[in-house]
Amino acid sequence: MLELQRLEIEAENLKSSLEKLKEQERSFLHKLEAIERERDEILKKRELIQKEIREHREHIEECKKNIKKTEERLNMVKKAEEYKALLREKARHEDCVIKLTERLKGLELELKSMDIEGIKEKYGKLIQEVEEEISDIRYSQARLGNRLGELEKRLENFKLSLREGVLKEYENLKRKYGLPFIVPVDAYGVCENCGTKLPSALYSKVIEGGIVSCPSCGRLLYHEEA
Ligand SMILES: [Zn+2]
Repeated sequence: MLELQRLEIEAENLKSSLEKLKEQERSFLHKLEAIERERDEILKKRELIQKEIREHREHIEECKKNIKKTEERLNMVKKAEEYKALLREKARHEDCVIKLTERLKGLELELKSMDIEGIKEKYGKLIQEVEEEISDIRYSQARLGNRLGELEKRLENFKLSLREGVLKEYENLKRKYGLPFIVPVDAYGVCENCGTKLPSALYSKVIEGGIVSCPSCGRLLYHEEA
């Protein structure tokens, strides 16, 4: 029974380690997604700025053409009213060029600060790090999974090798107390589960290799050879 308990506890521990690894894997996968999302957002913002720069340049060209056209018309008009109106129109186009050029400078500076190689390198590195973590975790998962598989096979064979009565008693005690229900007594005759000191008669029985129940907590007690 002690061996069965040992194998079962080992299997439980492996299962909980596997759970923890799965949890870790999930959290790293989330991290990876977040990094990729952040990178994509920056790249998208960069594209938008590039597009805006193109549009600004086109718009400036248009304003410059309009200035030229207005100048040509200024040479042909005769009435003072019309002349004044054209001057105002020209000033408007010039104003447009000045303002757009100012904004264009700002956009170009912003674009310069978003160095594409730097972005790719920074995020590439981050992604690689997280991917390495994930692959390590998956490797450990596979290893533990194999061990658990082997252990479960051993457990099954071990159970088959036990007499039915023993297995039944084991399952009953396990249901009643949970694992571990077979615990050692220490050198002072104290139950390691509940801390009760055994009466000397029981203690001697344990020392002689017998199995007794703790009078206080009911767990099976055995003596561990030093
Ligand atoms: Zn006890």
